[in-house]
Amino acid sequence: MISIKNSRDLQLMREACVVSARALQVGGEAVQPGVTTGEIDRLIRTYIEKSGAKPSFLGYGGFPASACISVNATVIHGIPGTYVIREGDIVSIDVGANLNGFHGDNAATFAAGKVSREAQALMDATRESLYEGIRAATAGNRVGDIGAAVQRYVEMRGYSVVRQFVGHGVGTHLHEDPSVPNFGTPGRGPKLLPGMTLAIEPMVNAGTHEVRILGDGWTTVTGDGRLSAHFEHTIAITPDGPVIMTDPDGKLR
Ligand code: MG
Repeated sequence: MISIKNSRDLQLMREACVVSARALQVGGEAVQPGVTTGEIDRLIRTYIEKSGAKPSFLGYGGFPASACISVNATVIHGIPGTYVIREGDIVSIDVGANLNGFHGDNAATFAAGKVSREAQALMDATRESLYEGIRAATAGNRVGDIGAAVQRYVEMRGYSVVRQFVGHGVGTHLHEDPSVPNFGTPGRGPKLLPGMTLAIEPMVNAGTHEVRILGDGWTTVTGDGRLSAHFEHTIAITPDGPVIMTDPDGKLR
């Protein structure tokens, strides 16, 4: 079932989303050569807890940290730890915060120092594909319009979208209906209605779309060892168009 939030719900959820967005900024600013992913996770957790919120991911399905930190060929669900970030790494951080009974969920890929032109182009295309998806998220459109917009943008540039993991509804639960794939057919899938809140999150691989999950049960890497990037916003469908809830400076319309 797809939940519909009223304007009061959206205001409460917006506060959770802002904490998520600022926690992501805190994490992104900490991405530097020489820093461990575990240190970044601790900074994020401290920020979320100081804001009066709870890290949505900590303990979710047994996940042992507050953020997923996924470096280079790791697509998603990287577990923060002793890995020391190196010059040229690309570092995807995915973080959620739970406040007022609602979750916000967002992700971005950050460059550690100077990265290759290939890595920068992949990051830029992934970020832009997220905005392509958001622009398609208007009331009356369908979920397939979002995925089709993301996929078209990504594949035109010779990259691939991950199939095995998808975006999702988000609200009082971190993962709600509907699934929001980063691929699809225009005009297909559930209709988008005002009050729906969705996490749109393209995971874009430089090579094959195939991924595999390592023995820890979480870490998801590209099938061919090439780079992957990940950008995510929580958005709300409104009569006036999509609103980015996890924009740290945005306003609720
Ligand atoms: Mg998500």
